[in-house]
Amino acid sequence: MTDAPKFNTLAIHAGAKPDPTTGARATPIYQTTAYVFNDVDHAASLFNLEAFGNIYTRIMNPTQGVLEERVAALEGGTAALAVASGHAAQFLVFHTLMEPGDEFIAARQLYGGSINQFGQSFKKFDWRVKWADGNDPASFAAQVTPKTKAIFCESVANPGGIIMDLDAIAAVAKKAGVPFIVDNTMATPYLCKPKDHGADIIVHSATKFLGGHGNSIAGVIVDCGTFDWMKSGKYASLSQPNPSYRGMVLAETFGNFSFAIACRVLGLRDIGPAIAPLNAFLILTGIETLALRMQRHCENALAVATWLEKHPKVAWVNYAGLPENKYHALQQKICPKGAGAVFTFGLKGGYEAGVKLVLAVNLFSHVANIGDTRSLIIHPASTTHSQVPRDQLAAAGAAADVVRLSVGIEDKADIIADLEQALAGV
Ligand SMILES: *Cc1c(COP(=O)(O)O)cnc(C)c1O
Repeated sequence: MTDAPKFNTLAIHAGAKPDPTTGARATPIYQTTAYVFNDVDHAASLFNLEAFGNIYTRIMNPTQGVLEERVAALEGGTAALAVASGHAAQFLVFHTLMEPGDEFIAARQLYGGSINQFGQSFKKFDWRVKWADGNDPASFAAQVTPKTKAIFCESVANPGGIIMDLDAIAAVAKKAGVPFIVDNTMATPYLCKPKDHGADIIVHSATKFLGGHGNSIAGVIVDCGTFDWMKSGKYASLSQPNPSYRGMVLAETFGNFSFAIACRVLGLRDIGPAIAPLNAFLILTGIETLALRMQRHCENALAVATWLEKHPKVAWVNYAGLPENKYHALQQKICPKGAGAVFTFGLKGGYEAGVKLVLAVNLFSHVANIGDTRSLIIHPASTTHSQVPRDQLAAAGAAADVVRLSVGIEDKADIIADLEQALAGV
């Protein structure tokens, strides 16, 4: 018996084989809108979900399919769905789970864009978010009501540098009988396996470390295959007969990968945020080097954080990889291979110093992104979190003095030298 392939092997091979017609070794970019049916019966069986196959690139595409198999393999899930962005992934997850008037509980220390999406746009669908404290699993339990349909958190929160106790929050979801959704964007499956800590559904902004090169927007939903939709009976899209598929009950037909199917054949079909085949190809190529990049990202971030801690103009550094950090013990449990590339620090000079610093750097780029090979810097209070209500800024880890770094994979001496010259002028 041979062992199952390990992480690096999966990152390069999962889902891919040489193209059967041309022999192309890299996964081709299937730049096509539609696919020829064998005959009328074949077409009908595809439309009725009686056979798997390509119909139209809004719903599936072979390049996208390889990406889906690869991310599912890396996360240990049963299936995945790749879509146009991380936000599209989150939207389709909730579109599949929620009915108007339903509630879900989310950590309030999320990516700023997710705070807007959940708190503002979801209102239009009457999907109601209840905020909890990502540092306090009991605060999730306190918000559970009969209308609760899901619990959502980030494994490593962007930008606060908070590591959430996934096992403890998963226990709350289990007790409430709802799926536990984890945004694993910042950690990636190389650093954290949410499924091993109780996640039922994982979402990614593949735009960040999975793609890794800052060149394309994409998102992925992973179905861990762990939630029993039929037993629950609370999720109509999965356990009720579907009128657009001749009364098929998706959870009955597709079992432990029915959530990924429902997101595709209902959400993606009707809402439409399909990933471009070229973007699927770029993310796939990035994933091949995920482990190597994450190792270097973590090594560089730890070196930069250690250096910043001793700088006289720096008030504090919040990097869970530092041994004295308050999240260090949780980091050892949730993402033991490293604390990631993104962390925050505070400038003694406050808001003005933060604005000056982002203008004074040369190697660092002042951008609203993370997870690039390049080192990136931002002052969240004046940019990514400028739409977050003032009284929620500090809770989201984006108070006025906070600077966020996404440390790249350049030489660490050059990264530190750039910060040194920029801090000299602050
Ligand atoms: C960027 C990001 C998102 C949103 O992803 P897009 O690809 O930009 O739509 C969601 N969650 C986290 C943690 C992110 O960093």
